[in-house]
Amino acid sequence: MSRVVVIGGGIAGLTTCYHILQEAREAGKNIDVTLIDKGERPGGNIRTEHIQGFLIEGGPDCFLSEKPWALQLCRRLGLDSSILPTSKPRGKTYVFSRGKLHLLPEGVILMVPTKMIPLLTSSLLTLRGKLRMAIEPFIPKKKGNADESLGEFVTRRLGKEALDKIAEPLVAGVHAGDPDTMSIRSSFPKFVELEEQYGSLVKGMVARMASMKKKTAAGEAKSVKDAAKSATPKGASSGTPSTKPRMTMFVTLKNGLGELVDKLLAEIKDVELLRETSVSDMTETNGGYQVTTDTGRVIDAAVVVVATPAYISAQLVRKIDLELSKKLLTIPYASTATISIGYNKKDIKHPMDGFGFVVPGSEERGIMAASWSSIKWAGRAPDDKILMRCFVGGARRAIS
Ligand SMILES: Cc1cc2nc3c(=O)[nH]c(=O)nc-3n(C[C@H](O)[C@H](O)[C@H](O)COP(=O)(O)OP(=O)(O)OC[C@H]3O[C@@H](n4cnc5c(N)ncnc54)[C@H](O)[C@@H]3O)c2cc1C
Repeated sequence: MSRVVVIGGGIAGLTTCYHILQEAREAGKNIDVTLIDKGERPGGNIRTEHIQGFLIEGGPDCFLSEKPWALQLCRRLGLDSSILPTSKPRGKTYVFSRGKLHLLPEGVILMVPTKMIPLLTSSLLTLRGKLRMAIEPFIPKKKGNADESLGEFVTRRLGKEALDKIAEPLVAGVHAGDPDTMSIRSSFPKFVELEEQYGSLVKGMVARMASMKKKTAAGEAKSVKDAAKSATPKGASSGTPSTKPRMTMFVTLKNGLGELVDKLLAEIKDVELLRETSVSDMTETNGGYQVTTDTGRVIDAAVVVVATPAYISAQLVRKIDLELSKKLLTIPYASTATISIGYNKKDIKHPMDGFGFVVPGSEERGIMAASWSSIKWAGRAPDDKILMRCFVGGARRAIS
C-alpha cells in the first residue's frame, strides 16, 4: 500500500500534493495520492474573483519576496511572467487618527524611526510621543534573554504612543494580532537581534540599511560589468535584456493568487480530489492510518498529511497523539475578513498617494486597515475606478 492522503486543499495541501508527485516521478515511483478538501473549490483562504472589471482577492493578495518559498514555487510552476511587483517599490502608509488620515512619518520602518526630521514634523504623534521615540538610542538594552510581549517591547524601547499609534495598527493590519499576547521573539525576532547587537533599534536599523545600500550598489556595479561583458561581440547572443521581473517587498500574480491555485490543480491532475468532503475521523492501523470521511468513505493510507488549521488538526490527530492534539489547541487564531469596495475615481477627494491606511484599536472603528488595491497593484480595477480592500476582525475586534 503506497497511498498518501492529504487532508486540506489550501495552498499547503495543494503544494504538498505537487511535491509528492514531482519527487515520485523523479524517483520513478508510482504513488497514489488522495486530496480531501471540505470546501467547494480548493485553495482554502485563497479566493480570487473577477467582478465587473475588478479583480478581487477574498483572502491573501500577495506574498513577501524576501521569504523565498512562494516565489520559488511560482517559478517552478512556470509563472515567472505572471509575477507582479507593487506599482512603486515602497508605498506611503497613512494612519487614521482623530478623524483624519496622517502620513506615517517617512523613514519609519515597521515602527522604528530612521529619519528624525519627518518624525519631529509629523502630525500623527504628540510632541511628547515624538520625543520619546527620538530618545530610543539612549534607552539601555534589556538584560537577560527572557521573552516579552510585542507590546511590552515597543513600550520599553519607543514609548506607549508609538505602540498605540504605529506598532499596534501596523501589526493588526499585517498579522491581525494582539501586541499584548504576541511574543516579540517569535513574531519579530529581528528587533530582538537589533537590540542585542546594537543596543538600539534606531542605531541597528540605520546600520543595516547602510550595509544593504552598499551591497545593492556593489550588486548593481557587478551587473553593469556583466552586461558590458555580454554585450561584447563574442557574447552578443546573450546580450538580450533580462526578462526577470522587478522585485518589490510584496509581490503577487497578474491574475491574482487564484492563478497559483489553478496552476497547481493543473499540475496535480493525477491526484484523486475529493471536494466538499470533510475528514471526520482518523485512526492508526497496523503500519498505517485509516481516514474516514463524512460521506462514509474509509481510506487506508501509508502516510497522512494534515494540512488543516491547527484547531481542526487537533481534532483529527486526537486518537493518534493526544499530546500533539493538546499542543495544537494552544495555537491562537483570530477571525478576519476582507470587504472590497469599488469607487468612481472622480468621487474620491484624497490624493491616494500611498498603498492604504491602518486604524489604531484606540480609535474604536469597525475596520483595522484598508489597502488601496488598485493603486498598489496594476490591473485590479477599470481605469476610472478605485478598488479598496478593508480588513475587519482580528484579535482585538473579534468577529464570528
Ligand atoms: C483575509 C486574509 C488575508 C490574508 N492575507 C495574506 C497575504 O496577503 N499574504 C500572506 O502571505 N498570507 C495572507 N493570509 C494568510 C494566508 O491566507 C494563510 O496563511 C494561508 O492561506 C494558509 O494556507 P493553508 O493551506 O495552511 O490553510 P487554509 O487556506 O486554511 O486551507 C485549509 C483547508 O483545509 C480544509 N479543511 C478544513 N477542515 C477540513 C476537514 N475536516 N477535512 C477536509 N478538509 C478540511 C479547508 O476547506 C481548507 O481548504 C491572509 C489570510 C486571511 C484570512
